[in-house]
Amino acid sequence: MKVKALREAFDILSSQIPREFEEVQNENSADIKIKFVTGQHSDTQPFSRNKIIYAHADTSGILHFNDDTIWKVYENGDKIMPAAVDFNWVALHELGHVLGLPHNNDIKAPDSIMREDYKNSVDARGFYLRPRLDLADIDNIKKIYGEKVVRQNRTGAKNANSKCSEYKSNTDIIGNNLINKPGQPENCCGFCRVTKDCEAFIWNSHNGGTCWLKSGSAITAPADGFFMGTI
Ligand SMILES: [Zn+2]
Ligand SMILES: [Zn+2]
Repeated sequence: MKVKALREAFDILSSQIPREFEEVQNENSADIKIKFVTGQHSDTQPFSRNKIIYAHADTSGILHFNDDTIWKVYENGDKIMPAAVDFNWVALHELGHVLGLPHNNDIKAPDSIMREDYKNSVDARGFYLRPRLDLADIDNIKKIYGEKVVRQNRTGAKNANSKCSEYKSNTDIIGNNLINKPGQPENCCGFCRVTKDCEAFIWNSHNGGTCWLKSGSAITAPADGFFMGTI
């Protein structure tokens, strides 16, 4: 569960910046070294039972989770467990640090994943809502790594993606909703091609990446982190 949550946190970040992350088993060849440890763990930042620190990370690629924490890998809609700490939130926050993001306690960004104080991410009814990057986080990470350039699938004319338009970044389509499917930007065109009435789509990082299929694209609006495509 934690490994899946970590993969999803990497996906959320790589969906915004021109960086791909590859999982390797050999620690020596890893740029980012993730460990679950307790107490003293042979670095200069031991975890202590007196002061609860859930994790620490830095741009050298160190990411240590304190395994004395009661971790919970929530799914959307779960009831919040008061004693547990949301692993999704801490993983995304700490990976932000690994990639160079500092804390962001700006009152204008109350939902930034880089807020110093952990909080439960909940929907209007108080049930779990998977944390994501807010606009400030997306801006800040792009300031470090630049804009992600989303290309069409280059496998060419033989597959369903062949008749898709170029993607247009930071654009949303208002209304015209058909269905949505989990996927990365390069998947959306193929989904749309095989879905009745689909003429356009939006991709964003919702739940690690979602294609929102649309019956048209008449009305668009600027939206950070969204990609629009038509077929
Ligand atoms: Zn450590
Ligand atoms: Zn932090």
